[in-house]
Amino acid sequence: MVYQYDICSFLILLLMIVSMIIRKLYSGQVHRIFLLFVILLFGTTVCDMLSSAPLSAIDPGLRDALREGGTFVYFLLHSSVLPLYVIFMGLAAGTWYKFIKRRFNKVLFSLPYIINIAAVLSNPWTHAIYRIVDGKYTRGDYILLTYVVGAFYGVLTIYYLAKYKGVLDTMSMIAFFSIYPYTVVAVLIQYFYPTHLLEMFAYSVAVLTIMIFVIRPEKMLNLAVGSKTMAAFWQDTKNIYLSEKKTHIYIIKVNSDSSIIKLYGINMHDAIMRELVTKINAKVRTIVPTGTYSSVYYLNYGLFAVSIENKYTSKDTCGQLYEAMCEKIHTDNNMTLLLECAVCEIAIPEDMPTFKDVVSFIDTFEKSSAASGAFIYSDLTQQEKIKMSFDIDRYIRKAIANNSFQMYYQPIYSVKENKFVTAEALIRLNDDEVGFISPADFIPAAEKSGAIYDIGKYVIDSVFGFIRKAEQYGVKYIEINISAMQCMSDSFVDEIKDKLNEYGVSNKAVNFELTESASEILDDVLRKTVTMLHAEGIEFSIDDYGTGYSNLHRIMSEPIKIIKIDQSLISSISDDKTRAVIADTIKMIKSIGMEVVAEGVETADTAQWLIDNGCDYIQGFYYAKPMPEDQYIEFLQRIS
Ligand code: C2E
Ligand code: MG
Ligand code: MG
Repeated sequence: MVYQYDICSFLILLLMIVSMIIRKLYSGQVHRIFLLFVILLFGTTVCDMLSSAPLSAIDPGLRDALREGGTFVYFLLHSSVLPLYVIFMGLAAGTWYKFIKRRFNKVLFSLPYIINIAAVLSNPWTHAIYRIVDGKYTRGDYILLTYVVGAFYGVLTIYYLAKYKGVLDTMSMIAFFSIYPYTVVAVLIQYFYPTHLLEMFAYSVAVLTIMIFVIRPEKMLNLAVGSKTMAAFWQDTKNIYLSEKKTHIYIIKVNSDSSIIKLYGINMHDAIMRELVTKINAKVRTIVPTGTYSSVYYLNYGLFAVSIENKYTSKDTCGQLYEAMCEKIHTDNNMTLLLECAVCEIAIPEDMPTFKDVVSFIDTFEKSSAASGAFIYSDLTQQEKIKMSFDIDRYIRKAIANNSFQMYYQPIYSVKENKFVTAEALIRLNDDEVGFISPADFIPAAEKSGAIYDIGKYVIDSVFGFIRKAEQYGVKYIEINISAMQCMSDSFVDEIKDKLNEYGVSNKAVNFELTESASEILDDVLRKTVTMLHAEGIEFSIDDYGTGYSNLHRIMSEPIKIIKIDQSLISSISDDKTRAVIADTIKMIKSIGMEVVAEGVETADTAQWLIDNGCDYIQGFYYAKPMPEDQYIEFLQRIS
């Protein structure tokens, strides 16, 4: 029996095809080409069997026809095996577009294939490759041509792997190359011992090796959500840059993602993400004609990407995707929900000249507290990009490197002492390119990126260095804004103690402000830090009181001395109800022995009303705006 190896190959390849179809391993170009390659090998194996099996039981006429047809198709398919393999390898490495873009490579790649196919197609007349005599296969005079062409593609593979080494990991390189030792040995045996039809078996073992080592569906496909993964996105985006195909990438972010997880749990969250992928896919299908290049990816929690070739998109595409995201979602438990989303269109390569730019953009976009809506990156002004914190990290890094932050001080009026005995230190970032960047924008970004630690150190050094000077003018303490993130650092307490010593500053001369939102998450670490610093004699204030959900009962149990009523409440003081709330809040705070500061006081009337209602301290533009050190000193000199 000469075809026992073909039977093995038949079974291996069949199993692979079935498993790939069951596992839906056909999404994504690389997977599709691989599946096609395995099917091609399967077809070749079947034809190989038809051309070599005895088929003695059937009618000789039919047998010869099968033999003739099988052999012809075998050679046709067989000629395509290695060229397709080279394409598959190139796509998997993500370098195929780059390779095939050069005309020389195009000719180099296709010419041997065309010659081979031409020889096979003309074989019925020339019998150059093979002939069937009395139902028996015999080699033609130019059979060697097919071997030479095969060897050529082998050399091309080696050249290709060498040229783009570093793109593939070692395991994949070995797996890709393994097809050659297997098949060369098999072909040599088969050449000298024509009854050992080993070649297809060698191929099937080789593709099995590739399937095991290279095709990692979990890396490219997120089966829970039903879309391509972040890894697939990086690979495809690299390809976009290599192929220089002008593409629009839409990054979609579900702003309310963390609330979805908290409210519905992770399983339901995945179901919602799956629903969104379906929605996005449906929308994309209305934008691009079928068969053209477009892909949908699920990158991360609540973050998606869509890439579409420029020529199919319009100015509206971004808005259309946004609208699709804003439609109601029906969950499995019969609830409907609406999501808060942001979609941003980036043009490649115009907006982001390199692949690295896309990586860092997505990183900031994910962390940013971007407003809901559809945004076209190139249409945004620099200030808008900063506001959405797309570019903010760059300016923060620059300011840290150039030490270009500045501290401003806003005097705070003490009602009891009828003078300005304290001030709040407020950081300023004035960039030479883009101008003033508000701390309300860059502090949250710095908290996300971790730059807050460096900023915090700068603030402490700057303010502690200044305190002793201010004390000479009767300033009792300076209020310093502290981010909850800083407090969570285990070295924070020691750092503060060291700095107090270093600058010779008394613990009574500083007061740390923690925002109400930070105090809400007063978890064990934060509470420990606050308690330890309080034990060192440092007092704390709750900033922006009235913007969160904390209640005085909780705050009462923390070592807090001062509560600062947020300016959003103060600014609507003309409203009777708000006035009633503020009056009550002041009373309550004072009744539990804490002090009250009103922030954002802009008019004499407001200041007077607050004084009449027992407020201890008043801070706002009415008295003074935040000012640099020297102006603050002048201010203090003037009033003393
Ligand atoms: P905050 O701590 O609540 O600071 C008060 C903010 O209100 C300051 O804004 C101040 O300029 C502004 N303000 C004061 N009086 C008035 C007024 O009468 N009317 C109006 N409309 N605004 C007034 P700024 O300086 O832009 O700071 C914004 C926020 O950034 C601060 O809010 C604080 O949370 C944060 N921040 C500022 N400096 C630092 C810092 O050094 N470290 C940390 N972690 N956060 C800081
Ligand atoms: Mg503050
Ligand atoms: Mg405040």
